[in-house]
Amino acid sequence: MPKTKVSYPWGNNYFWNLLKRFVFTPYFSCRKFYNLMLGSAQNFLLPERAFARPVKMIIEPSGRCNLNCPLCPTGRRLDGRKETNLGLDIFKKAVDPLIPYLYEVYLYNWGEPLLNPRLFEMVRYCSQRRIRTVVSTNLTLFENRMMNPLMESGLDTLIVSLDGVSAGSYLQYRRRGDFEKVIGNLKSIAHERARLGARRPRLIWQFIVFGHNESEIPQAIAMAKQLGIDEIKFIAPFARMDTLAYSAADMKREELDDYLPRDQRYHLYLSNKKAPRKAVPCPFLWNQIAIRTDGGVAPCCGSYHKDDDFGSLSNSDIMAVWNNEKYQQARKTLRTGGWFKSHTICDQCIINDPYK
Ligand code: SF4
Ligand code: SF4
Repeated sequence: MPKTKVSYPWGNNYFWNLLKRFVFTPYFSCRKFYNLMLGSAQNFLLPERAFARPVKMIIEPSGRCNLNCPLCPTGRRLDGRKETNLGLDIFKKAVDPLIPYLYEVYLYNWGEPLLNPRLFEMVRYCSQRRIRTVVSTNLTLFENRMMNPLMESGLDTLIVSLDGVSAGSYLQYRRRGDFEKVIGNLKSIAHERARLGARRPRLIWQFIVFGHNESEIPQAIAMAKQLGIDEIKFIAPFARMDTLAYSAADMKREELDDYLPRDQRYHLYLSNKKAPRKAVPCPFLWNQIAIRTDGGVAPCCGSYHKDDDFGSLSNSDIMAVWNNEKYQQARKTLRTGGWFKSHTICDQCIINDPYK
């Protein structure tokens, strides 16, 4: 049985995590590493035209979800874009040109990935090309028939959203979820992995800490150990994710008030005013790219609305979008510390200026 790691929003060893992701990893290649180094140089030089390619892609298998989580724009059925599944054609159009450079593909963003019947085909496509894959799911839709495709896909990491140790607390946020089913599915996957003697997928239990479940943290740790989970990760709640990427602390407080835990270390938005200005602005515009189910290209996972896309794979290819006018203008915004307005989502992003 694996030793269960317990992680909190504080206490992350940032540099060790970077080494594990990009150096001491089976997904390493000299070409990827050279591109990564170029990308790191860009984070200081902040050129408008990127000369390195993305090392990470976030690609959304489904823009739909079966749950109604109240702080999530998909769960609230907000009008972001048409609810569809990603097709293999768009998937390959996004991934293929970047195969030699990508360290990791995250197959999730604003929806439930298991709603896409071709999910594990996409995972396998990446892992066969030596790209690390991560899927995050509510695990309510997992069925036994998916076990073999999952195990054979080469998936590196499976993150499971489970915010509680009882149906009562779980359902306060994961509305329409099924606590027993998620626990049952976690058990089956951990059991099957042990039966096969496999190390992958690495299982991460993601627990968003709210007021109604913070007292369950010790029980959750004990349960994770019992279930054979590799890591249990306690994270802070976000609010108004649909409005602006990583935006404005205080505006969001009101919506979060019903949910915030007493432990202020999980209050993302309280500490922002005291946060130091970052020496290096948001790196995403130079090292990662996000693809939506309809082929829309967004600058990061925090962008939800179609109007905020930087381009589309339906009428362009990915490298053309990567250095198109919107990208270059947004990079200029970051380079000028917000003085230049690009009229993109990046203009208002808290990541660049916590005092906004
Ligand atoms: S399970 Fe995830 S995608 Fe679905 S409504 Fe909840 S937070 Fe949103
Ligand atoms: S500046 Fe904000 S919106 Fe723009 S890419 Fe970075 S995190 Fe995303």
